[in-house]
Amino acid sequence: MSIKVALAGNPNTGKTTIFNALTGLNQFVGNWPGVTVEKKEGKYRKDHNITIVDLPGIYSLSPYTLEEVIARNYIIDEKPDGILNIIDGPNLERNLYLTTQLIELNVPTVIVVNMNDVIKKKGDEIKLEVLEKFFGCKAIFVSAINKENIDEAMSLLLKEIKQKNNPSINISYGEKIEGIFNKISTDLTNVYKRPLTRFELIKLFEEDEKAIEALKFNQNQKNIVKEIIDEYKNGKKINNEKVIAEKRWDYIDQNYHNIYFKKDALAITMTEKVDRIVTNRWLALPIFVVVMTIVYYISVTTVGGFVTDWTNEVLFGEIIPPFIENILVSLNVAEWLQSLILNGIVAGVGAVLGFVPQMIVLFIFLALLEGCGYMARIAFIMDRIFRKIGLSGKSFIPMLIGTGCSVPGIMASRTIDKENDRRMTIITTSFLPCSAKLPLIAMISGALFNNAWWVAPSAYFVGILAIIISGLILKKTKVFVGDLSPFVMELPPYYMPDLGSMARVVWERASSFITKAGTVILLSSIVIWLGLSFGVVDGSFTMLEESEINLSLMARFGSFVAPIFKPLGFADWKTTVGVITGLVAKENLITTLGIIYQFEEIDEIGTELFPTLAMSFTTYSAYAYLVFNLICAPCFAAIGAIKREMNNYKWTAFAVAYQTVLAYVMAMIVYQFGAFFAEGTIGIGLFIAIISLILMIYLILRKPVYTKKEIKA
Ligand code: GDP
Ligand code: MG
Repeated sequence: MSIKVALAGNPNTGKTTIFNALTGLNQFVGNWPGVTVEKKEGKYRKDHNITIVDLPGIYSLSPYTLEEVIARNYIIDEKPDGILNIIDGPNLERNLYLTTQLIELNVPTVIVVNMNDVIKKKGDEIKLEVLEKFFGCKAIFVSAINKENIDEAMSLLLKEIKQKNNPSINISYGEKIEGIFNKISTDLTNVYKRPLTRFELIKLFEEDEKAIEALKFNQNQKNIVKEIIDEYKNGKKINNEKVIAEKRWDYIDQNYHNIYFKKDALAITMTEKVDRIVTNRWLALPIFVVVMTIVYYISVTTVGGFVTDWTNEVLFGEIIPPFIENILVSLNVAEWLQSLILNGIVAGVGAVLGFVPQMIVLFIFLALLEGCGYMARIAFIMDRIFRKIGLSGKSFIPMLIGTGCSVPGIMASRTIDKENDRRMTIITTSFLPCSAKLPLIAMISGALFNNAWWVAPSAYFVGILAIIISGLILKKTKVFVGDLSPFVMELPPYYMPDLGSMARVVWERASSFITKAGTVILLSSIVIWLGLSFGVVDGSFTMLEESEINLSLMARFGSFVAPIFKPLGFADWKTTVGVITGLVAKENLITTLGIIYQFEEIDEIGTELFPTLAMSFTTYSAYAYLVFNLICAPCFAAIGAIKREMNNYKWTAFAVAYQTVLAYVMAMIVYQFGAFFAEGTIGIGLFIAIISLILMIYLILRKPVYTKKEIKA
């Protein structure tokens, strides 16, 4: 017999941790709400007939957010055989609101009071037998992080399922409302094909449209219900859903003091103490800036940079290439193939792999900030700022995820219910540098700024600046104007992050980066090498001498496109080719330059990537190059994700065009003003930059365009 078990609970209660423990799978665990957007399925480790479903975190079974819809549809349509209601023990009261609804589903349910370690540490006490009594189902303490009692919770539920023990309590909604339930039930008995469940009666009373739709009532049946409810409302404006919600909270209030006993009700928790500083109105933002500066400074410039120097110069410079060259020579491999392998693949892939140490250091920091709960604070802090610019803190979560890779970041925007806000989030998510852009940041910082401390962190803040500018500009346009979705987020307590899941996250991200180097980047390297090795000389298409790289197909193509970037200061065919190959994958910026440098090294122009590279730039054009590549259209994979999430070609085209134009303007302003202030350069470029800046300021400051509808409302 196959059995389906659903894990349901508020966000951040440990569902995924429990799911992973039950299934042996590795789903992403993060200490902020909204990590699990889609449901995930797995088989119970100990019995493959049992399917376990990890549902997204929800506060209620109402159909307002995407998470609620997914969780609710699953529970209602797929009818799991049993529910493990995962509860954040220390926040029992708030969590029980969902429980009041789950027990109405008439499915065997076990209340899993998770985070027992925290409860114990606080010295609080929860009376399980009282909890069981008031909710009519079994309850058990679990500490998911210590893998305590997880299988026991499962066994308990299986026993309940076997004995068909549905929750034995019906919360009473008071005589009047119960009377309505009865009346609807009786009046529909003859005209509807089956008796309605209590859950359905409640939904009917709540006038929950989606639930009513599912009942497929005909007009007559609809009228019967409407009449009864109209009579109850008696012409008054009553929100029935609210009425039910209040009754549920009353039920919890009445019983809660018999269930949860706080050791020291007034004690200020460590979390509260830390939050007084970290989320303080004035200090929050400076602290955030300092934290992210330190993170990027350490990962890119100091620790990470130190190891990367070694991997770049020694491992992929002095050790691996000569080693492979020796093998190739001893095997008598044809010269062109040697060039493909050494100048193409080793140089291209090696240039990217050289940055792995920096990436790992950054991933460790991000995992640490996620795991301990600080990232959740950032979303909360950013909500205050984002609100002013027309985004909500909810938008910041996709952006945070995007610092690993924009693709999952863009996908995470699904949790945002308002279409406008969601679109704006999709457009701006790739502005925060993803890990593939890290090598570029590191390279520019190293080659042109002598590893100045501020360069790497500034890339992160340029991303935030682009988001803020976009918010201010777009929100004032006709399409984006409108109210913001509310952002309610509970701040999880600070935890010492679980090293296991931290390691898993770091490993997942690093290994996907390395896999990419072995696939997409490898292929790109070959294509780039081909483009650099062949060309038309004297009217005939031939393979070029290494010193003739300037005649190659890529060089010609690059030179053709390069003038576009003249106002940005880097109208060089090499850097231009980097921008274009970067569309395939942002790592290709480095791959391309790495391969070109390899050719040039043989040409004895330079001996190391950085000095060679420095010749293509001035300080300002280098920073402009960085800005342009950070903000412009992301890689194809991310553009694909934008297309999927927008589900519309026009919007996708708008997103990509907007990103690229913004990147162009920002980079132009950096370069032109930089060149003017530093060298006094005045030209048509500066003139255009000034006009662009004025236009941008106008778009930021102008009054929003309201549609007629908005004004009426
Ligand atoms: P979900 O959002 O409900 O899927 O929750 P997750 O499984 O992602 O966990 C949220 C956070 O709570 C993570 O930081 C976990 O490491 C942490 N966590 C989960 N279970 C426990 C537990 O039993 N004790 C403690 N102290 N932390 C836990
Ligand atoms: Mg989860």
